[in-house]
Amino acid sequence: MPIATVNPASGETLKTFDALGAEEIESRIASAAQAFRQYRLTGFDERARLLNRAADLLEQDAPEIARTMTTEMGKPVVAARAEALKCVKAMRWYAERAEELLADEHPSDADVRDTGASRASVHYRPLGVVLAVMPWNFPLWQVVRFAAPALMAGNVGLLKHASNVPQTALYLEDLFGRAGFPAGCFQTLLVGSSAVENILRDPRVAAATLTGSEPAGRSVAAIASDEVKKTVLELGGSDPYVVMPSADIERAARTAVTARVQNNGQSCIAAKRFIVHEDVYDAFAERFTAGMRDLTVGDPMDESTDVGPLSSERGRADLERLVDDALSRGATALCGGQRPKEHERGWYYAPTVLAGITPAMRIHREETFGPVATLYRVSGLDEAVAVANDSPFGLSSNVWTRDEGDVRRFVRDLEAGGVFFNGMTASHPALPFGGAKRSGYGRELSEHGIREFCNITTVWHG
Ligand code: NDP
Repeated sequence: MPIATVNPASGETLKTFDALGAEEIESRIASAAQAFRQYRLTGFDERARLLNRAADLLEQDAPEIARTMTTEMGKPVVAARAEALKCVKAMRWYAERAEELLADEHPSDADVRDTGASRASVHYRPLGVVLAVMPWNFPLWQVVRFAAPALMAGNVGLLKHASNVPQTALYLEDLFGRAGFPAGCFQTLLVGSSAVENILRDPRVAAATLTGSEPAGRSVAAIASDEVKKTVLELGGSDPYVVMPSADIERAARTAVTARVQNNGQSCIAAKRFIVHEDVYDAFAERFTAGMRDLTVGDPMDESTDVGPLSSERGRADLERLVDDALSRGATALCGGQRPKEHERGWYYAPTVLAGITPAMRIHREETFGPVATLYRVSGLDEAVAVANDSPFGLSSNVWTRDEGDVRRFVRDLEAGGVFFNGMTASHPALPFGGAKRSGYGRELSEHGIREFCNITTVWHG
């Protein structure tokens, strides 16, 4: 894949970049390793000062970097600005909390005596150089939710960003540099995915985090396991959105539209499979379909646009194949099901609702990365749980109900890293984020995220 900015709204190549050569990669890894030796000795106050400075700069830059993101991957510019400000918030959150989250732990006196120690404690020490392989869909947020905790823990970062967001990738390196982080603490490597193996095998690289597709995750995990290096993987999702009879149907349907089409439908935690109890199926399907049909599809730079183009021609072709397969096997398009006629240029796809899904259709098991929803009719709680779990993925889940019995059952039985009731899944700095099954492992955000790339060290005194 060439490293280039190609505007998804027009298909036009705006800027191309040369990939780094072997010597440049070597010098950047050396610089990262060198930076870590000093940076690990800094205190939380100093790290927080730098991260807060980066947050202030990003806040000022938000309108401009939002336009860059929209140009590179097509998200509506309003959402791009919101993404930048969400990063600001997460940076400030970790700047304020890291010291407390990584404070030394002291076992009870009784437990200490039991180990034969005079005293004992647990320390969270940084691992070193962490490689971050990141996707284009939230080109700032995916990186910041790794970088903010990693830098506060005393690690340094090497970013291999997706090849279609090079300007956003370079902006991030520049941002941390302007904030005052010492040279080498956060670097962008403009390289294709074939360069990842050598970087990851380099003994100076301690660990890796990847957000992206299952094949990319599998490849990085295999190399890292061969090198016995820690990884965190955040892969795809096909989150269920369950609507039970006691739900507020009006709100459930309105939120369902946003949950499905956020980021032009290209979000790992977007709700993708809508599983609706038969008692409220018709009422929900009618409102949801009307909401999807009413969305404004258009230029993502336009402030009133709800849904812009998909990020790449290949992404749209993949989505079309999934929809066409479902339609050829008997699914019904309640709306959409094709490219919007009014947009000949750019990689647009009409917001689509498909009903009559069966397990024989690819769309039943694969992730739809675009504004396409699948609808399922279920007859009760057991079937709702079974259909929700009938997916290789297990990232998050959404349930609409006012029944406490339902709540207990879904919390106990849904195979996912999150269960969001009467709302839609979103990531927050204070809450752990990550999946089960093929959606990956490890957690980002909260105290769980910051501890993933720490050497949890036992200190024992005889
Ligand atoms: P990829 O997984 O291919 O890209 C994500 C990142 O991984 C990019 O930096 C990419 O680099 C890199 N990468 C790709 N293959 C490898 C590899 N073998 N070894 C190391 N790094 C690799 O995602 P795509 O953009 O191709 O999207 C395909 C599908 O992945 C989507 O349709 C969606 O289902 C899923 N996806 C999920 C995301 C999520 O948030 N969980 C985000 C993006 C995609 P490069 O760009 O240079 O190829």
